[in-house]
Amino acid sequence: MLHRYILVLTLSLLSIASQAQTKSQIRKTDQLFKSKGEIHFWFLLKKQSDKKEITRMISIDHVHGDTVWAFANKRGLLRFFELGYSRFQVIDNSAESYRKSQKKNAKKGQTSTAAFDNYPTYTQYEQIMQQFATDYPAICKLVNLGTLPSGRIILALKITDSLGKRENEPQFLYTSTMHGDETAGYPLMLKLADELLAGYGVNPRLTYLVKEMEIWINPLANPDGAYRGGNNSIFNATRFNANNIDLNRNYPDPEDGPHPDGEAYQPETKIFMGFADTMDFVMAANFHGGAEVANFPWDTWQRRHTDEFWWTTESVRFTDSARSQAPANYFSTIYGYPNLPGVTQGFDWYEINGGRQDYMNWYHNCREFTVELSDTKIIPENQIGNHWNYLRESLIGYMEASLRGVRGRITDLCTGKPMKARIRMVNHDRDSSHVYSFSHLGNYHRPIAPGNWQVEFSAPGYQTVTLPNVVVPQQGYAVIRNLALQPKMPVAAFNSKKTDICGSIVQFIDKSGSANQWLWNFGDGAESNLQNPQHTYSSSGTYPIQLKVTNCVGTDSLEMLDTVQILLSTNPLVTGDTSLCGATTHLLTASSPSPVVWYAAMAGGNPLDTGFTYQTPALTTTKTFYAQSIIPISTPNIGAADNNIGLGGYFTANAYHYQIFDALKTFVLKSVQVFANTTGNRTIQLRNSQGQILLSKLVAVPQGSSRVQLNFQVPVGQGLQLGLNGGASNNLYRNSDGASYPYGVEGVVQMTGNSAGIPSYYYYFYNWEISSRCESERVPVTALVTNAPTPGITITASQATNCEGDTVRLSGTASNSTNPTYSWFAGNNPIGMGQTLKLTTLTGNNQITCRLTSADPCAISNPVTSAPISISILVRPASPTISLNLGVLSSTSGPVLWFLDGQPLSATPSVDFQPTQSGLYTAATKSPNGCLSLPSNPVSITSTKAQNPSAIVFWSEANQLHAENNTGKSQNVEIYSIEGRKVMEKTVTQGVHTFSIQQLPAGSYRVRSGGGSQPFPFRKN
Ligand SMILES: [Zn+2]
Repeated sequence: MLHRYILVLTLSLLSIASQAQTKSQIRKTDQLFKSKGEIHFWFLLKKQSDKKEITRMISIDHVHGDTVWAFANKRGLLRFFELGYSRFQVIDNSAESYRKSQKKNAKKGQTSTAAFDNYPTYTQYEQIMQQFATDYPAICKLVNLGTLPSGRIILALKITDSLGKRENEPQFLYTSTMHGDETAGYPLMLKLADELLAGYGVNPRLTYLVKEMEIWINPLANPDGAYRGGNNSIFNATRFNANNIDLNRNYPDPEDGPHPDGEAYQPETKIFMGFADTMDFVMAANFHGGAEVANFPWDTWQRRHTDEFWWTTESVRFTDSARSQAPANYFSTIYGYPNLPGVTQGFDWYEINGGRQDYMNWYHNCREFTVELSDTKIIPENQIGNHWNYLRESLIGYMEASLRGVRGRITDLCTGKPMKARIRMVNHDRDSSHVYSFSHLGNYHRPIAPGNWQVEFSAPGYQTVTLPNVVVPQQGYAVIRNLALQPKMPVAAFNSKKTDICGSIVQFIDKSGSANQWLWNFGDGAESNLQNPQHTYSSSGTYPIQLKVTNCVGTDSLEMLDTVQILLSTNPLVTGDTSLCGATTHLLTASSPSPVVWYAAMAGGNPLDTGFTYQTPALTTTKTFYAQSIIPISTPNIGAADNNIGLGGYFTANAYHYQIFDALKTFVLKSVQVFANTTGNRTIQLRNSQGQILLSKLVAVPQGSSRVQLNFQVPVGQGLQLGLNGGASNNLYRNSDGASYPYGVEGVVQMTGNSAGIPSYYYYFYNWEISSRCESERVPVTALVTNAPTPGITITASQATNCEGDTVRLSGTASNSTNPTYSWFAGNNPIGMGQTLKLTTLTGNNQITCRLTSADPCAISNPVTSAPISISILVRPASPTISLNLGVLSSTSGPVLWFLDGQPLSATPSVDFQPTQSGLYTAATKSPNGCLSLPSNPVSITSTKAQNPSAIVFWSEANQLHAENNTGKSQNVEIYSIEGRKVMEKTVTQGVHTFSIQQLPAGSYRVRSGGGSQPFPFRKN
């Protein structure tokens, strides 16, 4: 199904987006990248030879004549444009087509309920796999090969009659759907497992396979791609994994080496490589869809497989039996061989680099082929049962091929023990087509075409044996050749390796070949009798290693000096845990045989200092520092030495390109050599495998050769990128020829490839200068600060409000202090010292504080200042003046309070006061603010009462004056004005008399009797 439009693209999606007429197409493509991470499309080849380059950039899925069907992630599509291709048609992806067909079939009622005739949900898949193991515990085990970051699991069933131990049986692997949208094989693998398990003990042929083989079935190699749209269905399945990477381009390649696609090994790839490393698979197949073809090695080059005849025989056996059960057009297309429909050598169809089958054949001496099971990538569920019927015999038949050819067991003639040996078909084997016996049992399995073979058995340290005339029959199972190899006189040989360059553990590997006794001396006094011992050293140094090997023929020994170098940065011994107080520096020390670096944190952070001592900054609280011993690792420069390695040119195309490397430990990338065509600034970037920028530096680069200082602190990581954006300003030299990966320093860094994915390319950065080091743990050192508690002070005043001249008493209460001193302030003005302070001189409003200084040297925040208190001083009124007239005291300043000998006489102020006692009289004015004036002039009075023992008592009210005469005789009563003028005179007899004073003018008056009574002051209003 083709969309009826053509995308005309020139350089990049971005540059296209500006062209109005194609915006909607770009949006569609961009949406696909966003929702699925990939697009499926077809295009026409300009010339056939372009295929070789294109297959490195995008995932070719199918080729027919000049038409190429392919998948690409966004990066791949941009590279495709770079090659000058601009026209392509987007195709409905397979999941979309499948969804439509399911709908149609559901309408017609064509849905199947037979066992495994549907695509399970992811959860059901896990349950089904578990159920196999539960139902057939004696012959089936469920194995978790590895869990993906998504949480989905790559599962395999192990099916054999002795689950617990390896037997003299070929290990065989079926795996399907590493392209998540090529699902036909997925339910078929479940059906195959079910068939084998249910058939065991029932069907003699299947029983034989389970008894005589160790069968592994992995139905779903890319669960994240298959369930891209969620665990409930494969409706949104994608070819690529969760990182939008084609897993069948992601393996090491026989021709192109590691990372042929320029990508980091994906979690799925790592899981399968790890699995393959622990197994000895004799044969395998890996199932795909989108075509109907059995595709055998090699994919990466045109060179024929030496077993081409065997491969075509097995492929034809597979396709013939499928065709015999299927409609006429099944496996009918011619791909490589004109007379063999549905069979091809991979490269004859189209080249693939980094494919799984080449990896398994080349690196694991396994015979794996790739079978495309159906033209429709996702066959409808109602077709699953049919396909099982088409393929059942093919699947079983291919397994049986692992039991044919030549097989046997190899032992050591001296010891009788099984051993690893190489089994080579003389004048036949090449390109890893030979096999090895498996050291544990000594068994080997060599599927090979019928015929008369000359077989060579060899192992290091043993006499090679060649058997002529080993006849593999046309019918029946393998011819068996067991053999005991005669050891030669042993020749001691070994190598050693450290998993961690900074570690103390060394793995020694015996290379002597035929020895059966070993005596190792590790140079530090320790010895071992193991063949491949591991030894842990306790201190740095260079150690000589001695190995003595013995077998039934003789003994040999070898001593190698300078073999093992241990860079063991032992933890520094730290001292100087000082206990000081106050704000002071501490001197910390570390003793170590190698340099010491100081840090403020247990991990991360920049070094504070280097050296055996460290002077801290002034500390007021306890703080922990960390000392770390380091040993520099001497590293040669890495990478291509310069741009003379081969052809190349100055790069100006518009793309980001980079070198790919793994940092196995942190190191500093100090500088690189570049060759520039023009002087100018370049921004050099360190990115992670996902392309996220970790570090970036703008550098001025002169024309010609120059060394650029980067000083990048490179973190541990895989698939890191050192790169530079393209464009005219790039203009740095890139080699298109002559690179030879990997470059590196063992245990530190491995440069594995480049962004073009072309192994001969080398981008921009030559002759890397790096430095790295071994580090001890960071050992904590505590600078202990023992402070006295922070002193405190609170203050009080005798009274918040006072009158001028009053004494204010201030008092401080200290806490947490030793022999404190107190300094008092009104505002900023010092006003005195001492814990208490009496003051009379304040005026106005004041903020009083006290500063306390503790004599304790460990006190911190010393001195401390109290919280302020407010003290107000009110103005005092002026002192009145008083005088005595006719025995009455009068104030000249209005009403006053009267005092006798300093004691107040009344709470109510009055202008006049008639003293009745002798003493010193004073008066004071009371202001409305409450302040009393200072005392008036004193007036001394000698009591009149004593001279006039009996007297007349007067009192006044309104216009009347009353007189009570108690003298017993008539008395003269005289009234005087305040000026002393007599204004009235009366005579009163004994008793009380009242007389009117109405006629007197308003004012102050005095009345007294002639008998000498005290003058009585009164007022007429
Ligand atoms: Zn595929």
